[in-house]
Amino acid sequence: MKKTISIILTAALCLSLAASAIAESPIEAIDYTTGTPWLDIDLEGNVTADTPTDLKDNFALWANKDRILSLEIPEGYLAAGNTIDVNIKSTKDMMALFHGEVPEDHDARLAYDYFYLLCDWDSRDALGVAPLKEMIDVVEEITSLDALTEYFVKTPGEDRLYCLWKESSVQDTENPGTNVLSIKNGYSLILDHTEYCEMTDYGKTQKETYEAFFRKMLEKLGYSEEDAKQKFDNCFAWETLLNTVLAGKGDNAGSDTYYTRSELLAITPNIPILETLEKADGYPAMDRYLIPAPAVLGKLNELYTEENLPLLRDYLILHSIFEKAEALDWESYVLVSDYQEMIASGMHYEVDKEEYLSSLVYDEVNSVVAWPVSKLYVDRYANPADKARLSELVEEIVNAYYGIIEDANFISDETRAGAIAKLDSMTRNVLYPDNWEAYSLEDVNFTAKEEGGNLWEAWRAIKKHEHDKAVAEVSKPFDRTIWDSLPFIGNCTYTPSVNGIYINAAFAQNPNYRPDMTDEELYAYTGTAIAHEISHAFDAFGATYDKDGNSINWWTEDDYAAFNEKNEKLAAYFNAMRPWEGQDFNGEAMIGEACADMAALKCMLRIAAEKPDFDYDKFFRAYADRYATKETLMMAMARLEDEHPMNYLHINTNLQQYDEFLNFYGITEGDNMYLAPEDRVAIW
Ligand SMILES: [Zn+2]
Repeated sequence: MKKTISIILTAALCLSLAASAIAESPIEAIDYTTGTPWLDIDLEGNVTADTPTDLKDNFALWANKDRILSLEIPEGYLAAGNTIDVNIKSTKDMMALFHGEVPEDHDARLAYDYFYLLCDWDSRDALGVAPLKEMIDVVEEITSLDALTEYFVKTPGEDRLYCLWKESSVQDTENPGTNVLSIKNGYSLILDHTEYCEMTDYGKTQKETYEAFFRKMLEKLGYSEEDAKQKFDNCFAWETLLNTVLAGKGDNAGSDTYYTRSELLAITPNIPILETLEKADGYPAMDRYLIPAPAVLGKLNELYTEENLPLLRDYLILHSIFEKAEALDWESYVLVSDYQEMIASGMHYEVDKEEYLSSLVYDEVNSVVAWPVSKLYVDRYANPADKARLSELVEEIVNAYYGIIEDANFISDETRAGAIAKLDSMTRNVLYPDNWEAYSLEDVNFTAKEEGGNLWEAWRAIKKHEHDKAVAEVSKPFDRTIWDSLPFIGNCTYTPSVNGIYINAAFAQNPNYRPDMTDEELYAYTGTAIAHEISHAFDAFGATYDKDGNSINWWTEDDYAAFNEKNEKLAAYFNAMRPWEGQDFNGEAMIGEACADMAALKCMLRIAAEKPDFDYDKFFRAYADRYATKETLMMAMARLEDEHPMNYLHINTNLQQYDEFLNFYGITEGDNMYLAPEDRVAIW
């Protein structure tokens, strides 16, 4: 599972924008009740009180008919079901965090205070764009290349307007267990570099959108209309010079290359990258650097000339606006919201303050102070008893998984040892971190709203903390036990690059989890979700990473060929199905999720087999109920692009792989739910 609140809301917004396009197409010609081998029961209107049910024909319909009839799609959503219920609950919980008692914990208090500074439009408007203007004026006064070099080398990172390159501390994938400093050219407005070589209509629209935004912002900053246009043209001309160097390089445009310190100095003799990183930013001198696009960095060095100074200056100014406008006044926020929507969907968007205060501010506080919000969330809603109970369940599932790996008959003992090592070293992150030290913003202090503070200062303090953290991290070993997910997101995930599962605190709530669940419910609602994430370690993508999260092959050649063959069979299985006549599924896109779904169910069935008096009927019905859904046609259309099989398909395709299900209900050859052993596609 990967969806988060904001992704669902964004999808809803994009889909509503696509509604008019769909309405104009001749949809009445399509009969949506013609799916094979099963009717798309998730689609609104396809199930009515008169729809006949037969468990051997369509188990999902038989188990979920009454629930589907009772589901109502909430206003503002495109679907109803458990995922949406948890989504709505999480949103309410998130809102309540900032309206209850003032928290005592430092980080929780930081999140709380930041929220009120975000909402304080009076003080934000009173400052206007003045703090940014002050920083821009310093750059406007630079009149020689030497002065620009001095500006970079002598200005501390937090006071510098922007930079011509971007550095970040990342995992060194060639040196397992270490971090490396990655250095690349600064961002370009249009992400696809080919647009700078030969602009398509798409590129032209993007350019026009950015131009409109920057010209308005620059005029707010006191520039004339003419100067604002010139500044945009200069910035774009600089980006064009850099991006066209990638023309003809195809896929090699962004090929990661490691450089020694002297090699890096040799390709960047003019531009003071290392000097700035070490003298102004405080990074240690390293033996090794990751350069994601060496050709561009070389070009950056070549273009760092007196002649290009106006372009360099305006690039810095425009990108600083791009980066910092979110922390300014309401007018800036309105311009940012509009251009972002234009870039995403091609439609204008007029945000109003009521919408900001009732929903958008929560997304913003979550993204800027994500870990302090996590602390606030966990202190308020999570508890050690649930953490202990679910940690126990995770161990139970991992143990069953060893059995699945042991029994897999298509791999050799050599590959089996690699898979077992992966399970051994998988980090199991349940609800929230055991120790909060690595996520703490203890060093950050800013003045709260009631004491006269303002957002700009708070925002700068947080950015400084992030910078200092990156500096401290780069020479430490890469720590894959650090959480790569956020506890307040109502979801679970697996991250291949750290070989870790995350069962977030916000996921573990009704109906996904309740402390008083029976075993059957616990395994169906919670266990399959946990086992699903573990299974991602062994799907087509996850299987290319080793036990430490490195992209290193641990398969023998023959075993990997057999694995690929199984994945192809899995894709073909979905490709033979139709949600309705004339509409294909993309089986190849679905193999990762489907592999994880099937292995997860197998895992829970192995655990169930050990339980005396296990109520299989209750378990299979709960399994179906977890995925009971009602969705609009727009949502169904979007689901066709999703790597997760549609929910009705999820239920039926997974269940029909296993004898435990078929035998329990007496489903045999000739029944629509039946799948012959030789046609089954579960990989593990
Ligand atoms: Zn998944």
